[in-house]
Amino acid sequence: MLSEVDVIVAGGGPGGLAAAEAAARGGATVAIFEKNSEIGSPTRTSGGSFIRDMEELGIPAHLYHAVKICRFVSPNRTARFEYDEPIACGMDVRRTYQFLAQRAILAGAHVFPATSVLDLSMDSGRTTGAKIKNFRGKEMDVRSRIVIDATGYRAGLLRQAGVMNGHQRFGVGAEYDLYAPNYNEEEVVLIVGSVVAPSGYAWALPYGNHRVRLGVGVIHADTSANPEDYLNRLVENAERFGMDLRGAQPVEYHTGLIPSDGLCDRFVGNGIMGVGDSAGQPSALLGEGIRWAIWAGKMAGEVAAEAIQAGDCSADFLARYEKRWKAKHGPNLRVASEINRRIARWSDERWDRGTETLSRLTPYQFGQALKTELLGGWAFQALWSNPGLLKTGAREILRRVGL
Ligand SMILES: Cc1cc2nc3c(=O)[nH]c(=O)nc-3n(C[C@H](O)[C@H](O)[C@H](O)COP(=O)(O)OP(=O)(O)OC[C@H]3O[C@@H](n4cnc5c(N)ncnc54)[C@H](O)[C@@H]3O)c2cc1C
Repeated sequence: MLSEVDVIVAGGGPGGLAAAEAAARGGATVAIFEKNSEIGSPTRTSGGSFIRDMEELGIPAHLYHAVKICRFVSPNRTARFEYDEPIACGMDVRRTYQFLAQRAILAGAHVFPATSVLDLSMDSGRTTGAKIKNFRGKEMDVRSRIVIDATGYRAGLLRQAGVMNGHQRFGVGAEYDLYAPNYNEEEVVLIVGSVVAPSGYAWALPYGNHRVRLGVGVIHADTSANPEDYLNRLVENAERFGMDLRGAQPVEYHTGLIPSDGLCDRFVGNGIMGVGDSAGQPSALLGEGIRWAIWAGKMAGEVAAEAIQAGDCSADFLARYEKRWKAKHGPNLRVASEINRRIARWSDERWDRGTETLSRLTPYQFGQALKTELLGGWAFQALWSNPGLLKTGAREILRRVGL
């Protein structure tokens, strides 16, 4: 076990693995600690993502399954979008995360599974490393100049450093990973409405070889509903939603939380940086954070390596990462969060009207919206060709996020 490194990464999810790779590539010595005994397991995510990002992030195509059709279903309406060239995909989560771990190792990072980060070590407000506990239960101090909190929704280290106060609003999900031999593998289905998922949505996402993730997510504390209760009801009513689950059986069961209160105001401090869920970087629109965590990890790792080289790990230096992230993604993430807060309160009747509006979008426009590309030229094009969208609240959303 290393007793001193330049950068400690706490958490071996997509954000932490990408941060470790980037920091090591930049010349820093890096240790990444993951409390579970396997990278990518147990799975706490559905693995839905977008092909363009997977390509840009260098994730090999055999690790994800492209879907050609997206069906959006509200209580009495359906909007269906078909893509000649697929844009969305379902990934093999475990193998993708292990691929990211291999890349971090190749870059020179040291990966320690079954090792928890217990606490930050601090001296006069500056992070000096972390206390860890290995798989034998042995506790030890590891010194570092930077700690990256990639521990997910709890954000324990960012909180301990006083950078933020913790997340308050969460998407809570329950999901079966099914072997479903008759499910249409070309189609992802998103379902909304009070009977299926109060304040949230349900999904069916194929990821290849007849495996389908079927789940329900709700927002706490917007509702106190338990997604597990709704999940079995969804399985029983699958046919009603056009999903063929004849012969399907669960192979895995997943539960998880995702922060849904939007991007944190601050996610760096003296010698500490947050990436992914800990920093509130997922898109709150769909509760989608894997590619965002990887992008953030990459950006944070690069700045961490620059800071080590410059011999300056102060909050001022590390704020380069915060500024870069906010400049690139802040506006879209703020709009996504604002939209999510509004639609979480929609009635069934309002969802039907919303779905009717969606059905007027082209597949391309719908795809851009799903991807949280909410402020590009397409949005204005969509508003121009469908002025009715302004009545749905788009004008108010843009006003509230200062645009
Ligand atoms: C039900 C559900 C479905 C979802 N579906 C999708 C989807 O389809 N597509 C999508 O893009 N996103 C989805 N998300 C969100 C996505 O999973 C997260 O945004 C993403 O995993 C964030 O990555 P991360 O690296 O920040 O955190 P995580 O993936 O949460 O990784 C954090 C890691 O840190 C480890 N850890 C925690 N504490 C410690 C500690 N003290 N010491 C050491 N290790 C620690 C954890 O074990 C974990 O491995 C979903 C989330 C949920 C809950």
